[in-house]
Amino acid sequence: MKSNGLTKHISGTKDFISIDQNKCNRCGQCILVCVANLWRKIDSAISISEDYKERCLECAACYQVCEADAIEFHYPSGGTGIIYEKG
Ligand code: SF4
Ligand code: SF4
Repeated sequence: MKSNGLTKHISGTKDFISIDQNKCNRCGQCILVCVANLWRKIDSAISISEDYKERCLECAACYQVCEADAIEFHYPSGGTGIIYEKG
């Protein structure tokens, strides 16, 4: 379990975000909206950071903003993922 004082991430969380490159139109909206700065455009392909499971805030903003329906997002199952420690 990793903590930064505001959130804790439970290790062992399975993949919960994926991108369909065939649907992605490289609009870059996921890059702009992600408060955790997890999305990248490399050689015109969009990808999410390999360690996103440890840093993602599970806000689902990337999923909501993707008009091409290229991002698949499922909240991690109970007892995994992020725990907010304040608020
Ligand atoms: S918002 Fe969707 S379509 Fe746009 S770059 Fe991100 S994944 Fe691709
Ligand atoms: S769910 Fe939120 S924090 Fe996680 S990758 Fe998407 S926009 Fe970033």
